[in-house]
Amino acid sequence: MQLTEFDYDLFVIGGGSGGVRASRIAAELGVRVGLAEERYLGGTCVNVGCVPKKLFSYAAHYAQDFEDAKGYGWEFAPPPRFNWKTLHTNKNYEIARLNDIYLSMLQQAGVQVFQKRATLVDKNTIAIDNRTYTAKEILIATGGWPFVPDFPGKEHSISSNEIFSLDDLPSSILIVGGGYISVEFAGIFTGLGVKTTLISRNERLLRGFDSELTASFTVELEKTVTLRLRTQVARIQKKNATELSIHFDDGSAMTAEAVMFATGRKANSRNMGLEKVGVALADNGAIIVDNDFTTSIPNIHAVGDVINRIALTPVALAEGQILAQRLFGSGKKKMNYENIPTAVFCHPNLACVGLDEESAHERYANIAVYRSRFTPLRHTLSGNTEKYFLKLLVDTTTDKIVGAHMLGSDAGEIIQGLAIAITAGATKADFDATLGIHPTVAEEFVTMRTPS
Ligand code: NDP
Repeated sequence: MQLTEFDYDLFVIGGGSGGVRASRIAAELGVRVGLAEERYLGGTCVNVGCVPKKLFSYAAHYAQDFEDAKGYGWEFAPPPRFNWKTLHTNKNYEIARLNDIYLSMLQQAGVQVFQKRATLVDKNTIAIDNRTYTAKEILIATGGWPFVPDFPGKEHSISSNEIFSLDDLPSSILIVGGGYISVEFAGIFTGLGVKTTLISRNERLLRGFDSELTASFTVELEKTVTLRLRTQVARIQKKNATELSIHFDDGSAMTAEAVMFATGRKANSRNMGLEKVGVALADNGAIIVDNDFTTSIPNIHAVGDVINRIALTPVALAEGQILAQRLFGSGKKKMNYENIPTAVFCHPNLACVGLDEESAHERYANIAVYRSRFTPLRHTLSGNTEKYFLKLLVDTTTDKIVGAHMLGSDAGEIIQGLAIAITAGATKADFDATLGIHPTVAEEFVTMRTPS
């Protein structure tokens, strides 16, 4: 189906989750699609986000597994040793494999891929190197970029972009921020044997998550990580060839070999011609779109982290798919941002779907809260003091489950299943009528009988 006199029916700038999904769907619907990616196919998630992070998280968790195994009769003599270079090499190999898969998947779908930087010349024209190409529709899916606040010595810090390519594992690290990335990397580094300190400007970690869940997580985190709340970095200076001196806003200081900032991400929207073409941006750089992902210029669209709604891979994938189907198929679907499940791959994992308790009380008049805090069976012999915490929030007027929260091993795997039930409108009576699988951690979700 050739729609126009343009070179392409759709040109996508950005080959991450949202851009790849939209271009593949559009190409499969028979239109001519071009895609430009200047850095790496697969975007943040595949290259410097979800995938390598989860691999590192698995690597780090072995430390606890080896300890836990001793209570089950395993003996390690000499004790297991960790080799950063092996992990690093194997991780790079896997990411390169995924990059190739993304490229061949796009090419097989018929998308013309430019592994180059593209900029906008006008509302239908894209420049790549010294050539221009025209497109009827343009999609900006250029993602986000780590944000590090300004302070003296900022150049000595690194972000999640660099953390995946360190040649050597530092012996000590300060992680700044109290969000997803900082708590995930606190678990990774401490598991890999790095002396880890985490500071947050806030009085609590993981703002936005259920406060009781994050309080339970904080208790676990503090068993292995030095935590300082309500603290900010004032300046950093080099102490010697390997160490940095970090000075805090309260006048105190510490030494560490590395400082990683995980203080949020900003939309990657500058210096690509958007302002020149008239695409409206918010003050924080996010591209402003309507409910159909269209910008202030009707043929220019945007999805994923660059619109700064919910910076999660499955959200970008869904946005890209909905957009492509609306533009070139018969799709009329709107993105539903309710009940998006999410997991933080800290140790232990934390995951949820639906509302936290505070928001549930704000939205509904009658909320019943079911809680369960316990030592999992696995830890009866391991001697590990880790406690799991599960919580269900029920709107008693309709009996619907409006929130499910979990801190514990594989929380993401378990909450993913509950998210289906909750999306389908499950009630507490449905949960009560469901038989458990014994003995599991997840069976607690169907055996909680008394609200507290
Ligand atoms: P988050 O938004 O999760 O957390 C940012 C943290 O930085 C907050 O604690 C915030 O504090 C703090 N902060 C912000 N600005 C400053 C500042 N100027 N000085 C000091 N602290 C500051 O961002 P992340 O960088 O951790 O992650 C970015 C996004 O990536 C996440 O929001 C998430 O959407 C996505 N992500 C998802 C993952 C997953 O699905 N498992 C994993 C990793 C990332 P305060 O609370 O006070 O605002």
